Amino acid sequence: MDHGACNVIYLDKRAVDEHVRRNTLSESWAVRNNSTPGPGNDSPGYFHSVRPKNPTEVLSNIEHILSVFNEVHVCNTGASCLTRLSDLNENLADLVPTILLIDIPLNEERRLKRLSREPRTPSPNSMRRPLPDNCEPDDLYGMHLLQHVASEIQQRSLSRMVLPIAMLSGVEETERPGAPARTSSASQLLNEGTRSLRYVDAGAVDVYTSPLTKGQVHSLAVHAYRTRKEASKEDTNFLAARRNRKVSWVGVDDTKPYAYLREVMVSGLMGGICNPDTIGDNIDPNDIEVQPERIGVIAKMIGTWEFSAHDFTDDELLYGALLILKHALGMPELEQWRMDTDELTILLLASRTAYNEFVLYHNFRHVVDVLQALFFFLVQIGTLPPYPAGSSSQRKSPPSALAALLKPFDALTLLVSAVGHDVGHPGVNNAFLVALNSPLAQLYNDRSVLESFHCAAYSQILRRYWPGAFSDTGMRKLMINSILATDMGLHFKYMGDLGNLQSQLAHNNNTLDGWSPKVLEEYKELLCGLLIKCADISNVARKFDTAANWARILTDEFSNQGDMEQELEMPTCLFGGPPVLDSVIKMGESQIGFMNIFARPLFEAVSDVVPAMRFSLDEILTNKSIWERKIELERENQTKLAATGMLIPRPSYDTAPSPFSGS
Ligand SMILES: [Zn+2]
Repeated sequence: MDHGACNVIYLDKRAVDEHVRRNTLSESWAVRNNSTPGPGNDSPGYFHSVRPKNPTEVLSNIEHILSVFNEVHVCNTGASCLTRLSDLNENLADLVPTILLIDIPLNEERRLKRLSREPRTPSPNSMRRPLPDNCEPDDLYGMHLLQHVASEIQQRSLSRMVLPIAMLSGVEETERPGAPARTSSASQLLNEGTRSLRYVDAGAVDVYTSPLTKGQVHSLAVHAYRTRKEASKEDTNFLAARRNRKVSWVGVDDTKPYAYLREVMVSGLMGGICNPDTIGDNIDPNDIEVQPERIGVIAKMIGTWEFSAHDFTDDELLYGALLILKHALGMPELEQWRMDTDELTILLLASRTAYNEFVLYHNFRHVVDVLQALFFFLVQIGTLPPYPAGSSSQRKSPPSALAALLKPFDALTLLVSAVGHDVGHPGVNNAFLVALNSPLAQLYNDRSVLESFHCAAYSQILRRYWPGAFSDTGMRKLMINSILATDMGLHFKYMGDLGNLQSQLAHNNNTLDGWSPKVLEEYKELLCGLLIKCADISNVARKFDTAANWARILTDEFSNQGDMEQELEMPTCLFGGPPVLDSVIKMGESQIGFMNIFARPLFEAVSDVVPAMRFSLDEILTNKSIWERKIELERENQTKLAATGMLIPRPSYDTAPSPFSGS
């Protein structure tokens, strides 16, 4: 076996970044070694002494690698490792395997686990920031890098000839006798079979511990040999596919910025649809962390219209969503749909993972906001029982014949739909994707592109984590109907249908008497679509401070799209053009504009057919008058300042304008 016909990349942040060849090693390193004798190092071979930056363990690893392979590319950051990997993979004509040894420090693992419990959705106070032109953060290391490489291989952005190997460091040192208590958890991490399998599940071909032994390095050579043999059997089919990839999505130019918007979403989705079993995961329901004193606060707030999603961490939001689903599933009519708390938590965790963290508005926080709004509506309408369970109904409005069409099953479907209604949102709108002729727009023929994508991607999550819901045709039909209804491009169609419904009801003395089951079913579907639409743009109907926060965040997301459009030198696809920042007047005007054109007519007409929704219309009217007063005050201020000849200061109010809200 020719061990030389294989690339080896070794990533270790303690190492010096360089390319080391076996035959040049002894001279160059010996010179340095002789001049800098290292104390306490008695390892034999080339590295008898210590190079200033490479600790003994790293040197020992390099030495062992070079005892079998001719050369090794040593990298000390994830970024340099990925660059090296992509350089080596440029020449795909050769079937040369690349072994990628990824250092995974066990201490780091623990730290990341802790961090994962901290909030990750951008907070309301997060600053707007330019989007990266791809999804590769430059600080990828350890487990994150392993997952990234594995997913690139799966999506065929990287050759299958790349063999990621997890190399756990920090094991030996933490297993010293008499070491502090944290040591034992480090060794447990390795020793527990299931823990080690995590790395295999994450995509590692094998899992070793550092320092490497000679035997392990020999088995690396065996892995490489087997890979090369299998690849040559498959001939060059894959390589041809890789070379043709750039033309596989018609019209896509990989060299342009924001390629990820065009490629990643589609390839990930297609992979999920075609090979659902290959999507790996390690979702642990115990990974969510909510402080005991917060449990009561969350449980209380989800039952009120004062709920502000800005006030909660991601885990708290997830817990709130869990309580909402559990409340609905407590209805006797929904017994067949019940899942235990762990199963529901896993479904919610899988859904949360599918939202993009870099998206400022359309992320998991918005989704829980929409879910809670729907929940509140359904309790007010009377489709769901009073919350908390057992409390007396606080309904003040007369029951509505139309609302009585909604059954517990429909309420559950609406809540489930809310959880997935924006899955994978890229932070740009449909018009932008259509203008770019993105693969997603091509896939869905320029129609409700994002909503179709959210629905298809979420279906894959349900297929895996709630197969009963996925395979129920009734639930699926209503879910698709409801998620597609959130396309604001269809707003006026919905308003037209709602207008028809209003006149039919008026004509029939506000009863459903004499209407056929088919018509009733159609109106029920329309009502579901209308309720999720209301919830989706209910940000403008929240208490003023909460609503203003949403407006600012949405403006920032639009502004990011505006920056992309500028960079791409394309006409703006934003309704009303890119937002003007730092102007209370512009912000207020755009909010009022959105309310007048979209929100107010919708909530007004919905309140007409379902009186229990009237409260939300009142909130909109209140917010509208607050914005009007703010604009008036600001104008007076500016007039006064202009009269005194003073410069107009930046507004003290910290929100920025938004061309429109919602979706
Ligand atoms: Zn939404």
